[in-house]
Amino acid sequence: MESLAHDLRTMQRTPLHDSHVEHLRHIGEVVERKAGDVLFDLGDPMDTFYYVLDGEVEAVDAVTGERYGDGATLGPGQFAGEISLLTGGGSMLPMRLVQDSRLIAVPREALLEAMARVPEMSDIIVTVISARRRRLLESNDASLTLIGMDESKEIRAIAAFAARNRIPFRTPEDDPEEAHEVAEACSLDLKGPAVVFGKDRVIHDPTPRKVAQLFGLDLDLDEERTYDVLIVGGGPGGVAAGVYAGAEGLCALVVEDATIGGQAGTSSRIENYMGFPTGISGADLCWRGEVQAMKFGTRFAVPRRASAIERIGAGEGGPGFRVTLDDGTPVCARAIVVSTGVQYRRLPLDRLEEFEGAGAYYAATDVEARFCRGTEVVIVGGGNSAGQAAMFLSRYAKCVHVLIRGDSLADSMSTYLRDRLEADAGVAIHYNTEVEGLEGDDHLSAVRLKGDGAAELDGRIDTRALFIMVGAAPNTGWLDGLIETDAKGFVLTGDAVGRDSPFETSCDGIFAVGDVRAGSVKRVASAVGEGSVVISKVWEHVARVRDETGAAQAAE
Ligand SMILES: Cc1cc2nc3c(=O)[nH]c(=O)nc-3n(C[C@H](O)[C@H](O)[C@H](O)COP(=O)(O)OP(=O)(O)OC[C@H]3O[C@@H](n4cnc5c(N)ncnc54)[C@H](O)[C@@H]3O)c2cc1C
Repeated sequence: MESLAHDLRTMQRTPLHDSHVEHLRHIGEVVERKAGDVLFDLGDPMDTFYYVLDGEVEAVDAVTGERYGDGATLGPGQFAGEISLLTGGGSMLPMRLVQDSRLIAVPREALLEAMARVPEMSDIIVTVISARRRRLLESNDASLTLIGMDESKEIRAIAAFAARNRIPFRTPEDDPEEAHEVAEACSLDLKGPAVVFGKDRVIHDPTPRKVAQLFGLDLDLDEERTYDVLIVGGGPGGVAAGVYAGAEGLCALVVEDATIGGQAGTSSRIENYMGFPTGISGADLCWRGEVQAMKFGTRFAVPRRASAIERIGAGEGGPGFRVTLDDGTPVCARAIVVSTGVQYRRLPLDRLEEFEGAGAYYAATDVEARFCRGTEVVIVGGGNSAGQAAMFLSRYAKCVHVLIRGDSLADSMSTYLRDRLEADAGVAIHYNTEVEGLEGDDHLSAVRLKGDGAAELDGRIDTRALFIMVGAAPNTGWLDGLIETDAKGFVLTGDAVGRDSPFETSCDGIFAVGDVRAGSVKRVASAVGEGSVVISKVWEHVARVRDETGAAQAAE
């Protein structure tokens, strides 16, 4: 019985078939390891898959060094490994031999090739390793410890990054005894906020990038390599493109600036996506897509932002494009899919920047909800994202105040959502009301109001949580004018630029999908649909470029 992941109760495990084990023997080698040997230490690259023939393997709690979880171990017929096997990232769950054991060791690349050829084996492995990650996410015994969430904006930013990118973390302040133990384990003074990796490795000046590096999520990119397609943006559109690109055999890389899932990742409940009658969180949906894409060989690099793009010729790794990432790393590709979506507009308020992450937020997920328990919450905006946020936060807050600039929600919010808001006793809608100013010391403590509706609230609301959801602008600045956009910056495609395909831009080899595309329907399903179908055109383009390059080389 698989015993590391509780979720396997619902994700029924089928053992690997004899023919799968034979396959593993063929592509790997049988190795013997001694009791106490470590298969993977925390952060080690997951470059080998181990199938247990005889003996016993235990997962190890990276903080205590003791056996992980409820004491379960892996025996013959089971395998050691977790989701980082798909990415080549670092191990989040150390594994150690309990007894002398015989194992089949399979190099990661060989395993991935075999998984692509034997889908039944792939399904079993993916199911088990996904469940193990889920188990880590749902428990409070991860290898990354965040201390000081409540007082530090930086730690909150790390928590948001980790939560949205499915990096398990623990927050021991909920348990003072555990917090004390962590502090004692670290030789450094841990009175203030801190990020600790494993037992005692303190991450100084923590940033999302540094945390991603611990797990190999930002990928050490090979600058010499030319990808078939570089997908810029890991929202639903980009993830779907990643799935189809991998499935169609294209060598694909997705670079994502912040969080796989994009805007959808900030929605706790998407109710109108086909196939999920009781709704699904956007983060969960995109996580499934990411695992699926990785299974097909697509790589993801997070957090990495595309900051510039240029065309390159045959001698420079092309013909194609060179995209420069924010740290100066160049990435070359034969085709580009632009799926950079949109980002929330800010409000023109003094001190807003100061309070961002310290009371002013642009997304309402579990991380932000934590700061809203029993308090007054203010949401600015009358669109669907504001409505969903209000419904979600009303489960935690004393009262959610939704501020609407106009006098109706009829034109901006879906009817079902409007009806629910109006019926929710925990939500108060204030029409003709706007935020005029922000107050607080190092954290937001109140908002001052203006407009006809402000008087009935005495012109202010004492609050520690303001959610700004007032529309969005396209993320197209990095495209450097290489492709045509409309006046608002949305990418023009198809007929508008004389192309046959609705997703081709004015520049041959660059495609655009999802919210960033002018005229697209701004929904998860349409972004996913566009990201999926664009790949057939990308494939044609890549095949043509390869043929032309091959012909040119043959002629030389
Ligand atoms: C709170 C909320 C609730 C929603 N609820 C629903 C719903 O219930 N149903 C529904 O159908 N739709 C919903 N939507 C809309 C839906 O989420 C979007 O239409 C969808 O996410 C668009 O997908 P996308 O891939 O085009 O772009 P996005 O989701 O915007 O993703 C773009 C990604 O690109 C990244 N990026 C941007 N610039 C760069 C760069 N230079 N380099 C690298 N990466 C970059 C961003 O970080 C982002 O992750 C909701 C939106 C929000 C905000």
